[in-house]
Amino acid sequence: MAIASVNPATGETLRTFEANGPEEIENRLAAAHATFRTYRTTSFPERSRFLKRAAALLEEDREDIARTMTSEMGKPLASARAEAAKCVKAMRWYADHAEELLADEYPSDHDVKDSGASGVTVRYRPLGVVLAVMPWNFPLWQVVRFAAPALMAGNTGLLKHASNVPQTALYLGDLFHRAGFPAGCFQTLLVGAGAIEGVLRDPRVAAATLTGSEPAGRSVASIAGDAIKKTVLELGGSDPYVVMPSADVDRAARVAVTARVQNNGQSCIAAKRFIVHEDVHDAFTERFTARMEALAVGDPMDESTDVGPLATEQGRADLEELVDDAVRRGARVLCGAGRPQGRPAGWFYLPTVLTEVTPAMRIHHEEAFGPVATVYRVSDLDEAVAVANDSPFGLSSNVWTREAGDMERFVRDMEAGGIFFNGMTASHPAMPFGGVKRSGYGRELSDHGIKEFCNTTTVWIA
Ligand code: NDP
Repeated sequence: MAIASVNPATGETLRTFEANGPEEIENRLAAAHATFRTYRTTSFPERSRFLKRAAALLEEDREDIARTMTSEMGKPLASARAEAAKCVKAMRWYADHAEELLADEYPSDHDVKDSGASGVTVRYRPLGVVLAVMPWNFPLWQVVRFAAPALMAGNTGLLKHASNVPQTALYLGDLFHRAGFPAGCFQTLLVGAGAIEGVLRDPRVAAATLTGSEPAGRSVASIAGDAIKKTVLELGGSDPYVVMPSADVDRAARVAVTARVQNNGQSCIAAKRFIVHEDVHDAFTERFTARMEALAVGDPMDESTDVGPLATEQGRADLEELVDDAVRRGARVLCGAGRPQGRPAGWFYLPTVLTEVTPAMRIHHEEAFGPVATVYRVSDLDEAVAVANDSPFGLSSNVWTREAGDMERFVRDMEAGGIFFNGMTASHPAMPFGGVKRSGYGRELSDHGIKEFCNTTTVWIA
């Protein structure tokens, strides 16, 4: 894929970029490695000062970078502003909390007395250069979610961003540099996916994190596995959104719309499969469909737009194939299932609701990365759990119920890295984020995220 910003609302190529050549890649690798040797010895207050400065700069740049993101990948402008604000918050959170999250631990004398030690300490030391392979859907947040904890832990980072968001990628490299982080702490590599293997196998790179599709995750994980390097993978999701009879159905239907179409439907933690108890199925589906149909689809720079275009032409083609396959195999279309009239340019797709979806359809098992919802009718809690878990993915999940017994059952049985009751999935710096099954492994954010790229070191003294 060419490294270029192409406006998804018009199809117009805004800027193209030359990929970094072997010499530029080598220079960045050498700088990341050399900087790690000294940066790892900096104190938490020093790192915190840099990160807080980055947060302040991002806050100042918020409007400009929001417009850049919208022009490169099509998210509504208000969402782009909110994404920048969320990054500022996460940077400040890690700047304030990293020292305490990575404080030395002292196993109790009682527990270690038979080890022969007079003292044992567990210390969290940085790992080294971490390669971050990142996607375009939250082009700032996905990177900051990695960079803020990794830099606070004393690692250095190399960013290989998606090829369709080069301006945001370059902005990020510049941001950390302007904030005062030593040169080499955080650098952008402008390269295509084909350059990843060489970088990842380089002995100066210690580990990798990837957010993106399953094939990309599989490739990075197998190379890293072969080279015996740690990885964290955050791949796709097809999150269930279960509505039980005790739910506030109107609120559940309202939140369901946001949960599905946030970021033009291109979010790994978007609710994608709506699993509704038969007692409330018709009421929920009617309200949900009416609201999906009423969404304003249009120019993402226009403040009144709810749903902008898909980020790439290929992304829309993939989504169209999924929906066409389902319809061909008997799914019923309640709304959407096509391109909006009067928008010949740009990669728009109408908010869509499908019912009567069966396991024979691809959409039952695959991730619909766009504003397409499937609604399932279930007759009891056991069936709700079974349908929710009938997916290769296990990122997050949502359940609407007021029954404590139901909640306990879902917590026990849901195959997902998160369960959100009576609301929609969201990430927060203090809450671990990540999945099970083919949604990946490892956790981001919170103390779990910062420790992923640390060397947990046992210090034993006789
Ligand atoms: P990709 O997984 O292809 O892109 C994500 C990142 O991985 C990009 O930086 C990309 O680089 C890189 N990449 C692509 N192929 C490889 C590879 N073989 N080895 C290493 N890195 C690779 O996502 P797409 O944009 O193609 O989207 C396809 C699907 O992926 C979506 O429909 C959705 O299902 C899922 N996805 C999930 C995301 C999430 O948040 N979990 C985010 C984005 C996509 P380059 O851009 O240069 O190809």
